[in-house]
Amino acid sequence: MFDAMAQQQLISLQAAGEQNFSYESTTGEIPSAPRNLDTTTEQKKEQVLHMYHQPLDLLLESIELGLWRYDLPLNRLVWNNACKRHFGLSPDTEVTLDLFYELLHPDDRATTRQTMERSIAENSIYDIDYRAIGMDNQLRWIHATGRCFYDDHNKPEHFDCIMVDITERKRVEQMLRQQTDLLKELEMRKDEFISMASHELKTPITSIKGYTQMLQNHSKKAGDGQALYYLSIMNGQLNKLIDLVNDMLDISRMQVGKLNFRDALFDLYTVVQETVRNIQATTHTHQLSIEGVPGVQIFGDNDRIGQVLINLLTNAIKYSPHANRVIVHIAADQEYATVSVQDFGIGIDEAHRQKIFERFYQVHDTAEKGASGLGIGLYISNQIIKRHEGRMKVESVRGEGSTFSFTLPLFQRGKSLS
Ligand code: ADP
Repeated sequence: MFDAMAQQQLISLQAAGEQNFSYESTTGEIPSAPRNLDTTTEQKKEQVLHMYHQPLDLLLESIELGLWRYDLPLNRLVWNNACKRHFGLSPDTEVTLDLFYELLHPDDRATTRQTMERSIAENSIYDIDYRAIGMDNQLRWIHATGRCFYDDHNKPEHFDCIMVDITERKRVEQMLRQQTDLLKELEMRKDEFISMASHELKTPITSIKGYTQMLQNHSKKAGDGQALYYLSIMNGQLNKLIDLVNDMLDISRMQVGKLNFRDALFDLYTVVQETVRNIQATTHTHQLSIEGVPGVQIFGDNDRIGQVLINLLTNAIKYSPHANRVIVHIAADQEYATVSVQDFGIGIDEAHRQKIFERFYQVHDTAEKGASGLGIGLYISNQIIKRHEGRMKVESVRGEGSTFSFTLPLFQRGKSLS
């Protein structure tokens, strides 16, 4: 980019031992501050620097990079045009340190002054964002970075820095912050709504469930088969509603870290067997089978592990409408037990596989096929497994089926869950 000869000449001049020169731009914005130099050398140097700085000035101007040099012994401040524009100043304005501080936002003056003074005193990098209120009354955010240079006796000689107008960046950052705050607020309101709605629903549903059972008993005694048939359908639907409300309650409790766990030692095979039996009773379309060995001891909440299994089994049935079997497998190594639920249903595309463990995530095409749900079962299940220090994962082939599995650490004496 620079003229090679000009650079070579400049290097030779420097090698000749001349020091203490400052650069001068072709526009005359950053004049040299010659000290103790003979005229011939000075002229040569100016010629070289003239060539050297022309493209550099053009470049700096084109990217609106402000250049600042403060000559400490002479108490003289020099800015290029871009820098002056940051403060709404015309190119011919004489700048001083006092004018600079005057043009800063009152709240940023003291910090900027302290940062610069500290940088000079401690030979540290000056790096700061501040607001300038320009002569044109415009507020601009400026990012400045620089440092002080010292003479042979360690006396501060000049303080140089570059400045960039970052107003647009700050505006976008502020907008993003506002949007994030708004999203958090909406998320909070949604959580509050879910919590309130599920609590409000729980009481009437429990009451309906109680009366349904009373009616079932009554119909049984009266030998009313038709009423019993309708009541059993009603009961099935009520159970689905209760599951949904319980999931909603769990999710609200999870948000505030108040999901209860009653930990104890339990036999994993027994929990799997009981859950499979209960779910089998609710379906005529699928045959559920268990493979694996009994005798795996786990320390944790067996009801919550049962809840995870219910979710995986009902999903396996729900998302395999054209299949007729689901296999539950239990295995164990030295440290972990693994339970997997395999179905032969619609499967899940890779793009969705990790996301389905997120709150309210549903694969749209499966939802369109009429499967009901809120997209919270897997989220809750995953959280329960994590709380037991296990891991949950899914393997799936679209159109062939899915295998959801979770691990649980085997019971070890003297170790309890956090
Ligand atoms: P829900 O089933 O209530 O929508 P879940 O959190 O249990 O919520 O599941 C999230 C999504 O993961 C479901 O909407 C479905 O798209 C997908 N999914 C879960 N289990 C299976 C499965 N066995 N086969 C195919 N897709 C599944």
